[in-house]
Amino acid sequence: MAPIKQHFDYLVIGGGSGGLASGRRAAAMYKKKVGIIESGRLGGTCVNVGCVPKKVTWNAATLAEMMQDAKSYGFDVDVKKFDWKYFVEKRDAYVKRLNGIYSRNLNNDGVTYIPGRAHLLSKNEIEVDEQTPEGEKLGTKAVYTADHILIATGGYPAIPENIPGAEYGITSDGFFEIKTQPKKVVLVGAGYISIEFAGIFQALGTETHLMIRHETFLRSFDPMIQDTLTKYYDEGMGMNLHRHSKQTKIEKDPETGKLTVYYEDSKGTGVLADVDHVIWAIGRKPEVRSLNLPKVGVAQDKKGHIVVDEYQNTSVPGIYALGDVTGRVELTPVAIAAGRRLSDRLFGGIKEAKLDYSNIPSVVFAHPEVGTIGMTEPEAREKFGDENIKIYKTSFVAMYYAMLEHKAPTSYKIVCAGPDEKIVGLHILGQGSAEMLQGFGVAMKMGATKKDFDSCVAIHPTSAEELVTMK
Ligand SMILES: Cc1cc2nc3c(=O)[nH]c(=O)nc-3n(C[C@H](O)[C@H](O)[C@H](O)COP(=O)(O)OP(=O)(O)OC[C@H]3O[C@@H](n4cnc5c(N)ncnc54)[C@H](O)[C@@H]3O)c2cc1C
Repeated sequence: MAPIKQHFDYLVIGGGSGGLASGRRAAAMYKKKVGIIESGRLGGTCVNVGCVPKKVTWNAATLAEMMQDAKSYGFDVDVKKFDWKYFVEKRDAYVKRLNGIYSRNLNNDGVTYIPGRAHLLSKNEIEVDEQTPEGEKLGTKAVYTADHILIATGGYPAIPENIPGAEYGITSDGFFEIKTQPKKVVLVGAGYISIEFAGIFQALGTETHLMIRHETFLRSFDPMIQDTLTKYYDEGMGMNLHRHSKQTKIEKDPETGKLTVYYEDSKGTGVLADVDHVIWAIGRKPEVRSLNLPKVGVAQDKKGHIVVDEYQNTSVPGIYALGDVTGRVELTPVAIAAGRRLSDRLFGGIKEAKLDYSNIPSVVFAHPEVGTIGMTEPEAREKFGDENIKIYKTSFVAMYYAMLEHKAPTSYKIVCAGPDEKIVGLHILGQGSAEMLQGFGVAMKMGATKKDFDSCVAIHPTSAEELVTMK
């Protein structure tokens, strides 16, 4: 074992959303001696290969759609092409600036940044394969000790194991490395990442094939969202949607690098040639590969996620875990909130500090956007019984589309429970949903009822007004 280099009050493995938030709070607010070990780029998934570059790319796709729409409003626009290379360089420069800001923030808060890959040696010892902040391996090891250790190592995208040629495909990480606009792509997966990427490609004019295993996508969402958006992607956006599909083989042309995808779907067997990229978006796995969890006795579930209690305690006292590596509500603000509360509890003397995982708002940057809080209708019926549930729903054409030939859907659903019609689920689909949802999230956290919604005077003319005027 290498000699012990330094002792910390709090050592955090993973400088992503949760790790940075927790470490910085412990250092800045509670003046603890904190080290953060990070093997990749500071900021983690969200900043480098997730929320941030995704949303910037979604903005580009949304602009492409709006420029088409502008013609129907009387503008003489003729946008000939999208300069993907220019866009990607500018987007990546923005992400790089953010990496620098994160590094400076650590410095300002007095957190020690330790570039390298961490392995647990015991409940308070961590060995690090040292590297430079740019990721260059130094070939040296150092050992650090700590009173408390947080594992916030996130996850990584899965690749299917039994499809010949699956290795020719890329994942969401590879999506952000595409340097020229593909002519033809195949996306595999029905979760939000697949749906967001498919919408982006389609809006930017790439021939987009979306392969899903069932009849609809976003299958953990309310059926209204699943049905409306799947239908719109298929019929309204004109995407090539392959329902009930599976891929049987992928081949790569060694000369051109183009892929051929052999598949089966609800229409039979098929072959797609000249494909630039196959993107696997079939789920994510917890990043526990080098942590030595069994050796230290940190319990994992069947999928490898670290098992934690409501206070983020693992099975080993003094070791905590949060964020994607625990598999609970895999979103950046969730990891941040859990991380801050953990530091409040460990170092701020707030014994009861913990994250309430109920009613967490989340959105899908689809085309159009989707927002959801709380229970789906089937979940609410199951929990409260049909007789105790009241559903309010509406579908309409937002005023924005009045001037357009092409009309994207807007659909809202409120799920109420009990005699006072407490709102236990809110599901919205349509332009502006992402920005709209946050305020409704506050209302639901405060226990809003349908009567509370109705007592709020509408803002006219908006789509959101429908949520406070539903009959
Ligand atoms: C394509 C995509 C889009 C997304 N869009 C959104 C969105 O719009 N909104 C949203 O809220 N969420 C989004 N997410 C999810 C969000 O990115 C994650 O929920 C969030 O980043 C989880 O934070 P975390 O701290 O758990 O892990 P991460 O942010 O993944 O950070 C983990 C860090 O640990 C490091 N690490 C791992 N193992 C080790 C080790 N052994 N030693 C040292 N360092 C290690 C990794 O390099 C990484 O930097 C998206 C994710 C993806 C993939």
